[in-house]
Amino acid sequence: MSTERRSSNAGAFERAQAVIPGGVNSPVRAFRAVGGTPRFIRRAQGAYLWDVEGRRYIDYIGSWGPMILGHGHPAVLDAVTRAAREGLSFGAPTEAEAELAEALIDLVPAVEQVRLVSSGTEAAMSAIRLARGATGRSLIVKFEGCYHGHADALLVKAGSGLATFGHPTSAGVPPEVVQHTLVLPYNDLALLEQAFAGRGREIACVMIEPIAGNMNFVRASVPFMTRLRQLCSAHGALLVFDEVMTGFRVALGGAHSLYAQAIPGFRADLFVFGKVIGGGMPLAAFAGPREIMSQLAPLGPVYQAGTLSGNPVATACGLATLREIRAPGFFDRLSQSTRMLVRGLLAAAQAEGVPLAVDCEGGMFGFFFADSLPQDYAAVMATDKERFDRFFHAMLDRGVYLAPAMYEAGFVSAAHSDEDLDATIAAARESFALIAR
Ligand SMILES: *Cc1c(COP(=O)(O)O)cnc(C)c1O
Repeated sequence: MSTERRSSNAGAFERAQAVIPGGVNSPVRAFRAVGGTPRFIRRAQGAYLWDVEGRRYIDYIGSWGPMILGHGHPAVLDAVTRAAREGLSFGAPTEAEAELAEALIDLVPAVEQVRLVSSGTEAAMSAIRLARGATGRSLIVKFEGCYHGHADALLVKAGSGLATFGHPTSAGVPPEVVQHTLVLPYNDLALLEQAFAGRGREIACVMIEPIAGNMNFVRASVPFMTRLRQLCSAHGALLVFDEVMTGFRVALGGAHSLYAQAIPGFRADLFVFGKVIGGGMPLAAFAGPREIMSQLAPLGPVYQAGTLSGNPVATACGLATLREIRAPGFFDRLSQSTRMLVRGLLAAAQAEGVPLAVDCEGGMFGFFFADSLPQDYAAVMATDKERFDRFFHAMLDRGVYLAPAMYEAGFVSAAHSDEDLDATIAAARESFALIAR
């Protein structure tokens, strides 16, 4: 092991590229979208990351969402080390798994039963199998710009016409595998109506990110969600909320609680959770009413399993994280910090004459180099990428670590102090000034 090579980001990247495809274990980490050298992280504490060169960054990625308490929260570390000492994995049930399920049910009243898995991908894939098994139908509907992990059937983009099959977005996914996946534009009521009118009886489920964080930050409009619920109910299709990103992040009850407030009687059928519920450890879940969940093995005919599912260390980490975010006032404070950040970004952009549109909810935010907030994927991709890329690097140079692609959301944690937010806004003002030219 050469310590010399480990002491620079460029050296670490070169070394990693020799033995890991692209040098990374998840593609977005490679900075391909924005160019440049990814930062190799050595450690993190609170709101900060330190790279191998010893540079500090204010972290707005938070491991892509899980680190809602910030890094190295003492209560979480305590729970994790205590659990680890009791045993890393048993392959047998533990009481803590029921405790975590109970906590999720308590926070999301539409949920009656929960199954724990190890990644959001696994959870979304399993929820789809369950929806198909429970309805006896094959067709699934997803929306362009929503990401539900990388299960084959979900790696699809829209075909040329509405009623045509989607096209795989990855090599290695046979067209036959995605022939049961229909992809619709987000927030497009007319095409939604048309899809249900034509194929409603074939649809097992519609999966949606209620606030789409995989195209930066785009909310499903209330009329769109209202109609989606009506159409699913009328045609016997299940509405699946993918809250891997938004769950316990945009509000204590997730995005579901926001739509349930806005739409009388609103309730999704199935849920997919991840990220925050693992607190930074590999843990995710899918959940729903007992009637549907009891279709799962060992009770029912829908098979699903996992060697490390409900892993005791990950479960302890998730439980400790959920305990902290349930403290009175937690989400009020987090929301206030996030609002302070996006308002500051907007004011800084305006001061430098850079068109910017911002939105946020709870501890999640988005900003677009555009005059108004995009409503779908095409509009997100039409925002100013060149400006985003230059802004990203200007911020990185100033010690602010934003997601390295314009179609990713940002995250504020409870560890971000007002001073951190002020420093970020000051860096943004300088960066906007640079890119305004
Ligand atoms: C991150 C994410 C996933 C995939 O989760 P992994 O743990 O990365 O497999 C699925 N859905 C949404 C909405 C996500 O943000």
